[in-house]
Amino acid sequence: MPPTLPLLNFSLSKVLAGEQDNFAKAKIKIAFLMLTFAMVKIVITIPIAITHHQYIQAIRSGLIFLIFFAGLKYLLYKPHHIRIIAHVVLITGLLIIWSNLVFVVQQLNIVTVQVVVTTVLCSFYLIGNRTAIVYTTFSILPIFLFMIITRHSTAGVTIPPQQVVSPVYEIIVFLNFVSIAAIHYLFYKAYENSVIEKDQLNAQLAVKVAEVKALADAKSMFLSSMSHELRTPLNAVIGITDLLKGSASTEQHENLEILEFSTISLLAMVNDILDYHKSENDKIELEAIPVNLPELLNKIFSTLKLKANEKNIPLIVNIDESLSTLCVVSDPTRLTQIIYNLVGNAIKFTQKGKVELHIKLVETSTEGVEVQFVVKDTGIGIPQSKLESIFEPFSQASTDTTRHFGGTGLGLAIVKKLLLLFNSTIKVESELGEGSSFLFNINFCVAEPFVSKPKIPGNALKMAHLNVLIAEDNSINAMLLEKMLFNWGIKTCWAANGQEVVNKLKAEAVDLILMDLQMPVMDGYQTALTVRLLDDPIKANIPIIALTAATSSDIYPQVIAAGMQDYLSKPYEAAALYEKLERLAAMVNTVHKPATIINKEPPEFLQGAALC
Ligand code: ADP
Repeated sequence: MPPTLPLLNFSLSKVLAGEQDNFAKAKIKIAFLMLTFAMVKIVITIPIAITHHQYIQAIRSGLIFLIFFAGLKYLLYKPHHIRIIAHVVLITGLLIIWSNLVFVVQQLNIVTVQVVVTTVLCSFYLIGNRTAIVYTTFSILPIFLFMIITRHSTAGVTIPPQQVVSPVYEIIVFLNFVSIAAIHYLFYKAYENSVIEKDQLNAQLAVKVAEVKALADAKSMFLSSMSHELRTPLNAVIGITDLLKGSASTEQHENLEILEFSTISLLAMVNDILDYHKSENDKIELEAIPVNLPELLNKIFSTLKLKANEKNIPLIVNIDESLSTLCVVSDPTRLTQIIYNLVGNAIKFTQKGKVELHIKLVETSTEGVEVQFVVKDTGIGIPQSKLESIFEPFSQASTDTTRHFGGTGLGLAIVKKLLLLFNSTIKVESELGEGSSFLFNINFCVAEPFVSKPKIPGNALKMAHLNVLIAEDNSINAMLLEKMLFNWGIKTCWAANGQEVVNKLKAEAVDLILMDLQMPVMDGYQTALTVRLLDDPIKANIPIIALTAATSSDIYPQVIAAGMQDYLSKPYEAAALYEKLERLAAMVNTVHKPATIINKEPPEFLQGAALC
């Protein structure tokens, strides 16, 4: 809001007090200076002109005085109309130049040149841009015209020249030089103040950025520890439910299914919130692992099929034949998340009809393959106006979506962010009441030829000779692990902190360590580093799998840097743990002679830590 000043204001300081911008202040000061200097010069000139009968000069000066006085008053009343005042001053300046050359002075004297310079300066400093160039041209042009005309023509003007006489002339020349210098000074000062202000603002900004970063780091820390706190008990609930299902009656089995479903939904929500936070902070990095797409999709579909069956909706999967023998390099976890979200939504929002997933090999080139994924449903559809906003976080197509179907509105936002990491974008077509179709293409590099992995049961005995040390401070999770390993015929012992791990390792024959990263006394990283420094070369090289409920993307490099072989995120599936154990068991087989004692006794795990 420009300042409101009284009509009769004559104070420049009041005008400047209402202005914040350095350059706006400088413009007002320059205009004020120009106008007052000009009026002072006129006040000196008029009496001298009259005494020397220079009436044209006197009348012209009088008119200029009136215009400049009105301009000055208007400046002190409406300073934000400075451009209008500047135009008035500049046009008057042009008239002085032209009239001086044509009939008042009739020669190119120093005062006229000074007026030209002042007009050029004021046009750039007060108005700027192309308008300033126009004023500059029209103020310089008469000088050249005058020089050309006076050189080639002897025709004179009948009016006698009326140049101001000495010493007024010298005073005017002096005042003109002062005003040219002052204009430069005022503009330079404004520039200098702006630079100082900019430096101060930059310094303040740097402080604020540091504060915001600290806040974001604190938020990350909070989310990461929350993730840990939530995932640890969820790990136990999911694992125990799975174990109980093995020995449950039909009715109990049904209840356990509900318990498992609810826990997995809760876990999915926790993961969604954490994933979105991570994607917001660009903390998700894709892994590059050989993946056979049909095998990966079969795994995903065993879970999704259950969901679809519950709603009596056929789930049709159509995978390009040529993909079955192909192994691509990708991040299976993130790819699963994308497909799981899209097909999960399709099932959720479809009451009748079908849900389809089509995966097609679009192109094969020397760089790899382009695969198209299409998820189609015959569900409720999405209004055209919402086709973009559904990809915004916490956004749903309708306000009653949560009430009818549940959900947080984060799934598609995560899908969009994840697909960006795959260098892909998602397209959606939908018609209300008819259904929706989500489509995206991904370019994969091709990995080594695919060899199908053996399934768990047939291979269980291969690991039966192992003696695994479970390093875990949470006794419930430790018990869960122990039971899981017991089912595979693996002998276990337990250490509740890093120091106990080292002690136990020195005293007992252990083949492999499952190491929780967050433990009291000595955490997983420190413990691994200490183990690697043990004197016994076999013990110092024992394979270690890290277990963690934290979700940060830089865990893997940290785990490797601490000398561990692999890591598993909690909550984990039994199959994932088995797969990692199996791989490392091969390492153990080459280093150790098989220890043949298999713990077939019921687990006594919780009775004490020293069970080896
Ligand atoms: P959520 O499913 O948790 O609400 P999403 O981000 O996965 O969140 O989806 C955002 C919204 O997009 C949903 O709430 C729904 O309104 C709409 N939507 C997504 N997929 C479909 C679909 N297949 N059919 C109809 N609406 C959908």
